[in-house]
Amino acid sequence: MPVHFVIVGGGPAGVEAAATASRLGAEVTLVEREVVGGAANLWDCIPSKAMIATGGAIAMTHRSAALGLERAPAGVDLDALRERVRSISQGLASSTTRQLESQGVRLVRGSGRLVGPHKVQISPYEPEGQPVDPFVVEADAILVATGSTPRVPEWAVVDGDRVLVTRQAYPPSRVPDHLVVIGSGVTGVEFVHMFRSLGSRVTLIVSRQQVLPQKDPEVAAALESDFLATGVKLVKGARAVGIERSGTGVVVSCDDGRSVAGSHALLAIGSIPSSAGLGLEAAGVQRTESGYVPVNHHCQSSVPHIYAAGDLSGRLPLASVAAIQGRKVAEHVMGLHTREHRHLDYDKAASAIFTEPEIADVGLAEAEAFALGRKIRVTKVPFATNAKAMIDGDPRGFVKLVSDPATGVVLGGSIVGAHAAELISVIAVAVTAHLRVQDLSETLFVHPALAEALSAAAE
Ligand SMILES: Cc1cc2nc3c(=O)[nH]c(=O)nc-3n(C[C@H](O)[C@H](O)[C@H](O)COP(=O)(O)OP(=O)(O)OC[C@H]3O[C@@H](n4cnc5c(N)ncnc54)[C@H](O)[C@@H]3O)c2cc1C
Repeated sequence: MPVHFVIVGGGPAGVEAAATASRLGAEVTLVEREVVGGAANLWDCIPSKAMIATGGAIAMTHRSAALGLERAPAGVDLDALRERVRSISQGLASSTTRQLESQGVRLVRGSGRLVGPHKVQISPYEPEGQPVDPFVVEADAILVATGSTPRVPEWAVVDGDRVLVTRQAYPPSRVPDHLVVIGSGVTGVEFVHMFRSLGSRVTLIVSRQQVLPQKDPEVAAALESDFLATGVKLVKGARAVGIERSGTGVVVSCDDGRSVAGSHALLAIGSIPSSAGLGLEAAGVQRTESGYVPVNHHCQSSVPHIYAAGDLSGRLPLASVAAIQGRKVAEHVMGLHTREHRHLDYDKAASAIFTEPEIADVGLAEAEAFALGRKIRVTKVPFATNAKAMIDGDPRGFVKLVSDPATGVVLGGSIVGAHAAELISVIAVAVTAHLRVQDLSETLFVHPALAEALSAAAE
């Protein structure tokens, strides 16, 4: 009898687990209540980057004179942009659905909840209001991968009009005159960049003294100076504690007594796990106080045949991490971990921030190494010395490579600059495969290419 594997939630974690497990011979049921591809596809990664791509094209026009162009295009067509965002998400959802169906995965559009350690109750989506009875499926193994939703603090009333969460901004009915962004983590700064390039005035409320508090200070400083150069106002060391609607907009009040007026406010202050109502208690699965499902290195919950992956697991909230967790879960369910199974090393996950310039990093950061008292070698090469960056008219930023001074093994790196999110993959491979700086410096890169800056940093 094949293993019956039931997955609740069809985001990157659920989809990758379903595809891998069915390839390995499991009978797979995947329950998704909205769209295959999950929030990543519908609300988070894909729509935000599609909007940023449009903003990037506009930003490019500001450099057009340097490239020898005479005229820059004018405004943004919000309807066309909305349609573009929708069609990219829909196209991705359709191709993923087709792929899973061709692999024999049983896809059910509906809501799933655990009603026992081996039982999942599925309430199917009701087409055109026709009631469809819930039914229960038996499972040998279960994965809960229901993701997370934007956090809304008790002091804010989100109305979808003037006070928004990220999911209401793809795009809003009109480009805000003056957007006040609350939260200066990755999501906050990406939305600052998105709306700044679409033409809004933007004020960012930064609770600490630096945007991106988790990142290398030099990287954060590079982003801050770019924000300031494009007219973004930074209100530092202030924590938002209230939002009032005024006649023409909003007023955000801060804990130090300052207040910031704008036409709209956008909350980007993290997310909460979607674990309420999932029946985890009925199955004996433990949750943390904040609702995450703690897991071991195989993503097993406190009940060994019930797994959690993606944002729900409380590890790195990235689609890329969710997908690889999903794959590892499927391999574990199918017994593959006894052979070639390598544990996930979350410290080696590459991540990117799609601002202008882009920011990306992987592995050990310089500041982190100092804090740990670890000896490192740091080399830094500015893109201003790179031929392709000059040809493209965008020589901002740098590559920073962190290596072990004794062995030369690459430990990490940061990139600020055009296409940083693509370029970081080279350093990510080096970190995962324990390559040495010499391996990078002796690689024959294309010329002229931005990647040559990596080779130069490795010399
Ligand atoms: C604005 C924004 C931008 C982001 N950009 C990036 C990026 O560029 N790159 C990146 O790597 N990460 C990005 N992230 C993070 C990324 O979106 C998440 O880490 C990722 O979506 C998590 O995947 P997941 O599989 O856990 O679940 P999700 O993608 O959250 O999907 C979970 C799915 O479960 C479904 N579900 C929930 N409950 C039930 C139920 N009871 N029954 C059936 N289905 C259910 C939901 O409908 C949803 O489709 C971004 C996040 C935000 C907020």
